[in-house]
Amino acid sequence: GKILVTGANGYVATWIVRMLLGQGFTVRGTVRSEAKAVSLREEFTQDSDRLEIVVVEDMTKAGAFDEVVDGIDAIMHTASPLHYNAMEPSEIIVPAVLGTTRVLESALAHGNLVKRIVITSSCASVMQVQDTPRVFSESDWNDAALAEVEEKGVLATQQTKYRASKILAERAAWEFTKENKDNISWDLVVLNPPYVFGPPIGRTATLESLSESLRDWYRNIFQGGKTPEELPVVGQCWIDVRDLADAHILAMNKQEAGGERIVVYGGPFKWQDWVNAARGCGAAVPLGDKSYDPAKAAHYVLYDTSRAARLLDIKYRTIMECTRDTIEDFKGRG
Ligand code: NDP
Repeated sequence: GKILVTGANGYVATWIVRMLLGQGFTVRGTVRSEAKAVSLREEFTQDSDRLEIVVVEDMTKAGAFDEVVDGIDAIMHTASPLHYNAMEPSEIIVPAVLGTTRVLESALAHGNLVKRIVITSSCASVMQVQDTPRVFSESDWNDAALAEVEEKGVLATQQTKYRASKILAERAAWEFTKENKDNISWDLVVLNPPYVFGPPIGRTATLESLSESLRDWYRNIFQGGKTPEELPVVGQCWIDVRDLADAHILAMNKQEAGGERIVVYGGPFKWQDWVNAARGCGAAVPLGDKSYDPAKAAHYVLYDTSRAARLLDIKYRTIMECTRDTIEDFKGRG
């Protein structure tokens, strides 16, 4: 089969590409510029006969993916802005939503072989910030973030603007698929992962070029991005980038996953857990809070993982495995 991966140079997408190639698929990846195409081709030279990188400069343009979907059997749409520097919420919302719609429009018009579309949404579109414990599931939507963006506009937090972009993009995908259900050859699977950590692919990766999430990870563990007081109490949920890439391929292959929204996550954490894991790997990182007891950590946002377990059956890596492999990878980069 031939698989289209949008935003193929991204942190998550490069792992998807590597795994697809490893499993014998042919991949067409989109990037935004020729320079990015060149470095991605370099990364995968040994599989160059099964990898085609094409430039889609502006994915918000009508017909942006018309040629790109030709001959494609399944689509993984990962491209979406992930940054914390939007002034107007629309700066991040419009590309997220339009990018998603353009992929689906082109698939409808020209993707007559497409059987499945997998979209990388986020737990950002599921969870709401909590101060008491709550277990979220696929039936939850983060309407609070939308309301906040509507109310505060430019003054909404960067995280809220990003969350709104993911909610609206995901909604647009479900709506488009529903409205066109009689005319499409595919079904839709949406994956909702939390914070993604783990080793990056890309020989030239510098701290600045890392995806937002991995940069947070590095800063908070190695550079004192969180104070010793914050480390044992501030946290979130996470998934290893390789498990998320796996999840995309399972979501593409498993017949029963069609039409489903699926939360995929490895578990909750406090930043001190990562500090302890890094120290356990011998890394010289600030100690943080010595008295931290993970068994007593209070996690307020949790997820019901039964759907992912039933449909995808992912084996999740642990905080220790993720930390060890990421540190090894960073060492290799010097
Ligand atoms: P990256 O920033 O590494 O990759 C994002 C990709 O999207 C890049 O290829 C980027 O291209 C592309 N992109 C960004 N903005 C635009 C735009 N306006 N037009 C076209 N392409 C664009 O992020 P991740 O790999 O971490 O994220 C991949 C997906 O996973 C995203 O949909 C993100 O929302 C989702 N996700 C990520 C999480 C995380 O913690 N990392 C958590 C949950 C979901 P370029 O390199 O040219 O900027």
